[in-house]
Amino acid sequence: MLKIKDLYASVEGMEILKGINLEVKPGEVHAIMGPNGSGKSTLANVLAGKEEYEVTHGEVIYEGEDLLEKSPEDRAKDGIFLSFQYPVEIPGVPMVNFLKTSVNAHRKHKGLKELTAGEFLKLMREKMDLVDMHTKLTNRSVNEGFSGGEKKKNEIFQMALLEPKLAILDETDSGLDIDALKTVANGVNALKSPERATIVVTHYQRLLDYIVPDFVHILYKGKIVKTAGKELALHLEEKGYDWIKSENGN
Ligand code: ADP
Ligand code: MG
Ligand code: MG
Repeated sequence: MLKIKDLYASVEGMEILKGINLEVKPGEVHAIMGPNGSGKSTLANVLAGKEEYEVTHGEVIYEGEDLLEKSPEDRAKDGIFLSFQYPVEIPGVPMVNFLKTSVNAHRKHKGLKELTAGEFLKLMREKMDLVDMHTKLTNRSVNEGFSGGEKKKNEIFQMALLEPKLAILDETDSGLDIDALKTVANGVNALKSPERATIVVTHYQRLLDYIVPDFVHILYKGKIVKTAGKELALHLEEKGYDWIKSENGN
């Protein structure tokens, strides 16, 4: 599904990613962890196609196509969901309308029939339970006056509705409480299927108490220095990152 080969990327002329290799197959959940400043968010931002991030070497193949050639919009249409894709507040546009438009645009792209208002409401009700979303939120304008936790719920709710093939979540927000972490986990777990995959970027071992990853990768100084199963997250919880730093000459 996704193949990252020897990826180097820079921000403001500073080389941050220094040869990332990663393969994600359908059905898999990958967690990317690592000390602050390792380049985790940079990797997520490169995959998202953010302008400030310049790829200087390597490639990213998504379903046989060059992902780096695609606009962020096309990446989304082709089934990639990136966290904080729509962080903007849109006054005067109720969430429910925004989400219906968004779901129908994706369905149209896939050659599926657009959902009627009634069908969309049914789908919405189904998914609302999943992230413990309230009608109160969906009736409000897009992200307007939402708290951090509500924005997170909203984002995961959007992910659940869109059913992306590949979800890439960068859980950078240190302000997330345990409820918000559970919301993220429920969304990721509900998405799990043999056709879909998820990459969760996090520095929270705690998140992995709720999401069971197939692989845990440690990113350090722009490289993946270790890959193992979910037990690696437990080991990190216990030992921290110092051993990674000393193993890698620091
Ligand atoms: P992590 O998510 O692992 O904590 P980041 O990818 O956010 O690490 O950051 C890696 C390095 O790149 C840091 O030194 C950070 O200051 C730098 N960096 C990341 N994004 C930017 C940016 N937009 N402008 C300048 N420097 C950046
Ligand atoms: Mg950071
Ligand atoms: Mg980060």
